[in-house]
Amino acid sequence: MERYNRNIALIGQDGQNKLLSAKVLVCGCGGLGSFVIANLAALGIGNIGLVDDDSVEISNFNRQFLHNTIGEKKVLSAQKWINTFNPEINTKTYETRLNISNYSDIIKDYEIIVDCFDSYESKFLLNDIAVKEKKILIHGGVSEFYGQATVIKPGTPCLRCLFDYVEDNVPKGIISPVVSVIASIQAVEVTKQILNLPNTLEGLLLTYNGIKNEFKKLQMNKSSDCICNY
Ligand SMILES: [Zn+2]
Repeated sequence: MERYNRNIALIGQDGQNKLLSAKVLVCGCGGLGSFVIANLAALGIGNIGLVDDDSVEISNFNRQFLHNTIGEKKVLSAQKWINTFNPEINTKTYETRLNISNYSDIIKDYEIIVDCFDSYESKFLLNDIAVKEKKILIHGGVSEFYGQATVIKPGTPCLRCLFDYVEDNVPKGIISPVVSVIASIQAVEVTKQILNLPNTLEGLLLTYNGIKNEFKKLQMNKSSDCICNY
């Protein structure tokens, strides 16, 4: 427990025990995933699931710092990183692309899902799954100098309430410090959900503009036309 004594000074032994017994699924082990996973491992989240079907490419290294071997599966290098940094954490890897026919076996053991996917196609799929299965979804997204985060829970507005559809264009530029801002916010929101702390991002879209040094909290409204209602 000495490892966590600064955590415990803030959240108490009770709080630390809750983190140690929590089960969190990280969907995507790329840029957001790297920083989210590192934060969850430092917090002592006791059970971390890792979903990704990608292998490491050299162009990942500007932001995906858990990985260091080209060609290695990202779930495996992320798992190795966790095992080295905090061997007490239980990890489970899912080397697959999440889809409508395989998701139920993967998500059933987790209370909280963190959206670290890099395409809107995957983000919307994850949104629909989380709403249907009544899971807590911690959404994050980054592009260029901008990012956003929100928390979706049963009864709150979801991504589909906000956007009908977002086209995945040619990959835009993306830099590590902006990714780490949004990933850190996601990890704070994971902590608040596990510890039942107030003022979460439920129903609020937090936006970050790195050029202007500006954070905004935008009210999200539940849409009666949202396809997740049907
Ligand atoms: Zn919705």
